[in-house]
Amino acid sequence: MIPAAFEYYRPKDLAGALSVLVEHGDDARVLAGGHSLIPMMKLRMAEVPHLIDLQDVEGLSGISIEGDSIRIGAMTTQHDIIDNAQLALAAPIMREASLQIADPQVRYMGTVGGNVANGDPGNDMPGLMQCLDATFTLVGPDGQRKVAARDFYEAAYMTDREDEEILTAVEFNAPKGGYAYEKQKRKIGDYATAAAAVLLTKENGTCTSASIAMTNLSDTPVHSEKAGAALVGTSLDDAAIKAAVDAMLGDIDPTQDNRGPIEFKRHAAAIILRRAIENAWARA
Ligand SMILES: Cc1cc2nc3c(=O)[nH]c(=O)nc-3n(C[C@H](O)[C@H](O)[C@H](O)COP(=O)(O)OP(=O)(O)OC[C@H]3O[C@@H](n4cnc5c(N)ncnc54)[C@H](O)[C@@H]3O)c2cc1C
Repeated sequence: MIPAAFEYYRPKDLAGALSVLVEHGDDARVLAGGHSLIPMMKLRMAEVPHLIDLQDVEGLSGISIEGDSIRIGAMTTQHDIIDNAQLALAAPIMREASLQIADPQVRYMGTVGGNVANGDPGNDMPGLMQCLDATFTLVGPDGQRKVAARDFYEAAYMTDREDEEILTAVEFNAPKGGYAYEKQKRKIGDYATAAAAVLLTKENGTCTSASIAMTNLSDTPVHSEKAGAALVGTSLDDAAIKAAVDAMLGDIDPTQDNRGPIEFKRHAAAIILRRAIENAWARA
């Protein structure tokens, strides 16, 4: 319950935040919504001598939609996403997934940037971002760079982000066609036993594109290219869906924990993906 002592910083701009990160390296951490970091500090699983609160930093929150391009600032909360009618029209999968994250209080605080930067395979946004083929913007002392969500995750809590970089935004194109975010969990606010993000397009009864990513079934989110490819060119008959599910099962690598043994997780993943595909197809 009691975190170790820390220095608290509240910069007004990115330069101020970056200067603390550069000075203290791994001993400093940015604080976004605090709903992953503070629990870890309270358990003393994270000791952060220098905590940089991003809430006053200009330009880090907000949702902008221009044509097909969607940009969501890192400090935008899960509640902001759920509450944004324009985003719900342009990318309804964002709202569907956000409503399955945590609970109302956490969603008032938890941010997109924190969810994707955290590196916990249990977080739902990373798989969603891979499904959307999103790009993350990172700003560090040497300037700005962009990284594909599909290249960002290396292992549990290990990402392509350098210690001195701040993730400032996620960007993706408005998805077309059908969508679904399906999540199996033990209760409200639980991380997924298995979750699937699916986007697909349909023309004259044939699937013309499909993107599939899975949550909490490996030490990183899993974008299963083969699972998507198994659907393209088919009318999503049972054989095609089975082929996609089998391909996904070849790409995941769940571990046993209190959500169940490996075989149960694979079983749950298969059911949840089938459900997501059928749901997305019905909406396409
Ligand atoms: C009860 C409970 C249930 C939850 N259930 C779910 C769930 O079902 N699904 C789910 O996805 N999440 C869940 N969460 C986590 C929640 O969504 C978190 O808010 C989220 O994981 C982290 O976002 P944050 O803004 O709170 O980040 P913080 O906790 O502030 O930060 C998390 C980590 O990311 C780093 N970080 C944050 N922002 C940036 C940035 N802009 N640039 C670089 N690094 C950054 C921090 O330094 C820290 O290491 C739950 C949390 C709680 C407390």
